[in-house]
Amino acid sequence: METILTVNHLTKKFGYLTAVNDLSFTIEKGNVYGILGPNGSGKSTTLGIILNVVNRTSGEFSWFDGTTSTHQALKKVGAIIERPNFYPYMTAIQNLKLVCKIKEVPETKIQEKLELVGLWDRRNSKFKTYSLGMKQRLAIASALLNDPEILILDEPTNGLDPQGIHQIREIIKTIAGQGTTILLASHLLDEVEKVCSHVVILRKGVNLYSGPVDSMLASHGFFELRTNNMEQLISLLEKNASFGKLENFNGTLTAYLKEEMDAETLNKMLFEKGIVLSHLVKRKESLEEQFLTLTNNN
Ligand code: ADP
Ligand code: MG
Repeated sequence: METILTVNHLTKKFGYLTAVNDLSFTIEKGNVYGILGPNGSGKSTTLGIILNVVNRTSGEFSWFDGTTSTHQALKKVGAIIERPNFYPYMTAIQNLKLVCKIKEVPETKIQEKLELVGLWDRRNSKFKTYSLGMKQRLAIASALLNDPEILILDEPTNGLDPQGIHQIREIIKTIAGQGTTILLASHLLDEVEKVCSHVVILRKGVNLYSGPVDSMLASHGFFELRTNNMEQLISLLEKNASFGKLENFNGTLTAYLKEEMDAETLNKMLFEKGIVLSHLVKRKESLEEQFLTLTNNN
C-alpha cells in the first residue's frame, strides 16, 4: 500500500471551540475516502489544515512518504474547497489556458479534462453562462489539469439539482476508476455510500469511525427467513452461537449475525436439519442506520 496522507492527533481550536479533536486517519493510494459528518462537524476545517490554508492547533499530518514538504506535496494535489470561481467573461478554454500557465502544465491536457467532465462541447461558452453544475465540473477539470495524485472536494454536490448531482458523482467514479485517489467531504450519507470505498465519520470534530464503508461497525448483517416450520427454526438458531437477536414478526424471522456467515451456508445447514425455507435474504444495515447508531451512542 502506498500512503498518500497521514493525519496524526490533529486538533484545531477556534477560541474555546474545538473544531477538530484529536483526529487521526490514513489515506492510501487508489481509494475513495469520504469525510462524513453533519454541518459544523469539522470537515472543511480538516481539509483546510491538510491544504495549508488553516493553521492546526496541535497534531501532525504528512503527505506521501513523509519526506516531501507540504509545499512540494501540494503540487500533486488537486483541490476544490470553495465555490468554483473563474473569469466570468472568458470561455472555459480561455480560463483553463490561464490555469495551465499558472500551474505550468501543457495546454494539451485541456481537451482530455474537458471531455472527462462532459464540457468539451461547451468549451467556447463564457463561464458566466454555465449552470452551477457546469461550473463545478469545470472546477474539477481545472483541478485535474496537472494529473494530481489526489483530488480533494468539499461538498461537491451542494446546491446542485438531481441531474447535476448525478453527473458529478459519475465523474468522481470515473476519476477514481482511472486510479486517482479521492478525498471528499460530505454531510450526505447516501453520497458517501454511493461514491466512497472508505469513510471517516466526524461528529463535533471527533472521529467516530474510520475504515471501509462496507465494514462499518462490527455488524455482520442479518437474515430474513420464512418457513412453515418456524418453531423448529427458532429453537435451532437459538442454539447456534453465530446468531444473536432473533425477531419473529408477521411470519418472517429476522436473525442477526454475531459473526460472518453467507446465505448458502445457512441454507445448507438448515436443509440438513430438515428445515426448508420459503424465503431467505441476507441484508446489512444501511449506512444510514449504522451512522445513526454511531452518532446516537456517542
Ligand atoms: P463542516 O465543514 O463539517 O460543516 P467546519 O469545519 O466548517 O465544519 O466547522 C467546524 C466548526 O468550527 C464549526 O462549529 C464552525 O462554526 C467552526 N469554525 C470554522 N471556521 C471557523 C473560523 N474561522 N472561526 C471560528 N470558528 C470556525
Ligand atoms: Mg464544510
